[in-house]
Amino acid sequence: DVRVRFAPSPTGFLHLGGLRTALYNFLFAKSNGGKFILRIEDTDQSRVVHGAAEQLQKDLNWAGIYIDEGPRLGGQYGPYIQSQRLKSYKEHVEELLTKNVAYRCFCTNRRLDLLRVEALRTRQIPKYDNRCQYLTEEDVNKKLKENVPFCIRFKLTPGVQTFDDLIYGSISYDVGLNEGDPVIFKSDGFPTYHFANVVDDHLMKISHVLRGVEWQISTTKHIMLYRSFNWEAPVYGHLPLLINPDGTKLSKRQGDIQISHYRESGILPQALINFITHSGGGFDKDQERFLKPKIYTMDELANQFDVKNINTHSGKLMPERLPEFNRLELERHLKTEEESMVLVSKMENIIKNKFSFSVSDNSLNLDREYIKSTLIWASNRINRLDDLVSNKLAFLWVSPIYSEKIDANELTVIQKFRSRLEEQQNFTKDDLKLFLKEFSEENNFQFSNLTQLLRSILSGLKEGPSVAEMIEILGKENTLLRLQTYIN
Ligand code: GLU
Repeated sequence: DVRVRFAPSPTGFLHLGGLRTALYNFLFAKSNGGKFILRIEDTDQSRVVHGAAEQLQKDLNWAGIYIDEGPRLGGQYGPYIQSQRLKSYKEHVEELLTKNVAYRCFCTNRRLDLLRVEALRTRQIPKYDNRCQYLTEEDVNKKLKENVPFCIRFKLTPGVQTFDDLIYGSISYDVGLNEGDPVIFKSDGFPTYHFANVVDDHLMKISHVLRGVEWQISTTKHIMLYRSFNWEAPVYGHLPLLINPDGTKLSKRQGDIQISHYRESGILPQALINFITHSGGGFDKDQERFLKPKIYTMDELANQFDVKNINTHSGKLMPERLPEFNRLELERHLKTEEESMVLVSKMENIIKNKFSFSVSDNSLNLDREYIKSTLIWASNRINRLDDLVSNKLAFLWVSPIYSEKIDANELTVIQKFRSRLEEQQNFTKDDLKLFLKEFSEENNFQFSNLTQLLRSILSGLKEGPSVAEMIEILGKENTLLRLQTYIN
């Protein structure tokens, strides 16, 4: 059975790199009829950010990445938060101590610091010298009796180790050459990432581990841990980095790669998902997808997904293309009634958020059919829903206040125009254009003056869409209302 997991540490908020890892795991599960598990890795308590785990789950949900087992939903192999699994880690570390593949290390921080300094001075790789591995049983018992604080380290197997990476192929690495025996249990009673990660992947029956390539150098170590327990290791595949267009690293600290940033700026989830699938490979017809972007649903993406197609070089993000994806996604939503209404609801909130501090809700144009027709009208001229509340388009939702001096002659013209418009049946842009022309001729009122005046009354703007178009979008009722306000 395919079982994969996304195992974030709640040390910050979900960003593009994390979303990509979650997505590829999700698609892998989906395309193999497997399960997608969320596990929160919070063993480094000093780095836990309050609320991050909760937000993470909301962000995944927003993105349409649904979890089969996890902290909220539970599941057969829970709990899914590592800080709630301490008992199990303790039992497992005892097992390794008994087998003599792990040992207690009593070295002080001061000694470790000195080792580091000495290594730097002699230009060697700073690493623990494994001294406590050679303590006798008496030494250990004595220190335990004296209550000397200790951590537990795992004995690395010397030599080159090789494993097959689903994406990178055969990977060989001599971890002992570069690192001392790693700490698997800290003196605070918490396991370290490496240990908890391995124990949990085993207990949660994880079949495939797909994670960022930054973990690749840890994998040989993880495989040694599996061996020491006599467990079978999962299949590993490492995902290339996502990088900025200029080749620099995406930083978690850059607020603008956080998922919440995209959500709040009106990017739709499936647009963001499709956007990230365009960097780094992993899908059929990559070339074609690149030239002619199209929005794929999660099911379609799962069908096209193949780990074998993932690149081994870093994937460059193309932020300038995100608006295009979002526009395509807006258009896709507007094709069905149900999805249109999802947009209408989002739009309703955006309008309220934008204007409700300046005008009351009931003076806003919040009719759902009206919002929908406006969205359809706007779909080829906006990239984000928020664009519809920009200064240039605010008139769609809020009646402008006519602040110029009212000229008696103009007033008469507008009064007449209003009653004529009330009788007008056809409200398409073209009909209205003709109507405006005829009206201007009949009344001897210059066309450009008429449209300028109407534009100002209807929108408060000096330029923008043609007046015929404005009347068409606003609709008869709104238009008549605004003209009436001017007349009054
Ligand atoms: N907790 C690790 C992280 O934050 C998980 C790495 C892994 O998937 O093994 O990325």
